[in-house]
Amino acid sequence: MSAGTGGTERSGSTERAGSPDSTDSPDYEAALQAFAGVSGGPGHQAPDPVNVPMIRHWVEAMGDENPVYLDDDAAREAGFPGIVAPPTMLQAWIMRGLKVSREVEAARAAGAPSGDSPSDRVMALLDEGGYTSVVATNCDQRYLRPLVPGDRLSVESVIESVSPPKTTGLGVGRFLTNRLDFTDQHGELVATMRFRILKFRPRQPTGADDGTRTEPQEAVAPPAPEEAPGRPLRPRPALTQDNRFFFEGTRRGELLIQRCADCGTLRHPPRPACGACRSFAWDTVRSSGRGSVYSFVVNHHPQVPAFDYPLTVALVELEEGTRLVANVAGFAPGEMVIGAPVRASFEAFDDELTLPVFRPDGDGERHPDPDGHPDLDGHRVEPAPAQPRSE
Ligand SMILES: [Zn+2]
Repeated sequence: MSAGTGGTERSGSTERAGSPDSTDSPDYEAALQAFAGVSGGPGHQAPDPVNVPMIRHWVEAMGDENPVYLDDDAAREAGFPGIVAPPTMLQAWIMRGLKVSREVEAARAAGAPSGDSPSDRVMALLDEGGYTSVVATNCDQRYLRPLVPGDRLSVESVIESVSPPKTTGLGVGRFLTNRLDFTDQHGELVATMRFRILKFRPRQPTGADDGTRTEPQEAVAPPAPEEAPGRPLRPRPALTQDNRFFFEGTRRGELLIQRCADCGTLRHPPRPACGACRSFAWDTVRSSGRGSVYSFVVNHHPQVPAFDYPLTVALVELEEGTRLVANVAGFAPGEMVIGAPVRASFEAFDDELTLPVFRPDGDGERHPDPDGHPDLDGHRVEPAPAQPRSE
């Protein structure tokens, strides 16, 4: 289960052996290791028992039509005593709710000192050691029995381990693993969840290798000479055999969209299988680059040094029918509106990263493409050569 963790499961690809640049003292190490096995702080009880209305909202939102979650007869037929809750609702039962979460956020924004629980203290100690950045890496849940309406959960956390320093793709960091123990109204353990984060020392802005690359065999371009000193390059895409065509296309000034080779459905972002027919066969079509703003957001915080703020990011609906999240430019502040016609241009942000940037498309009329791109009135698209199945 990784939904909602805000992180990605990539410990296998980012973690490298050794701790060559650790400068932590033995005392510091000992202070960190003293937290292993310690309770993270007082637990709490779920505000509500497991109940059918919440299950109904969950399965509707998730589109999960397994009948055992709402239909007593179907659940009994499947060998349960009656309706059971979806196992992945585990965290939903013990969430504090919007009001408390807002109060905590407001206190934090007002500069309230962080708490003094062991969890707070181990985080503060990691901060003191320079491990000030954080990314969630793993979330593993184990279910010991199905939850049924009427169950009332409680949860307690344990700081399970703090790893030695690891050199990762993001920088030198330590993995902090917390275990949440979920018990029922009888005190019986019903589920556990291990939640692992990487607390790491952010790399200094030194150039292209900003740590998001997952394919170290790729050549790393030196920072472009015209880059202002101290300004880091944009984050690298994590290239895979599914998405490589897209970035290779943008470098040639082509906006390529993945297309199912069996049913023709377009999809973006690139992924291995077709959501419509489950086929793994695909090729690409070259988009006209014309579309309209489907939605957009103006981002003010948090600020990442490689970008200029306020940063407008748009969800562009291409005229071929699929959408993509992209940079926009050429709109005066406040000028962007939903539905605004846009057209892709391509901007080389550095020697190896070229991305589409969408700009206002004049009056929105369809002009023949001055660069010889196919004119796509009538939604005609020019197929690009099929991508190899494996590389
Ligand atoms: Zn398909």
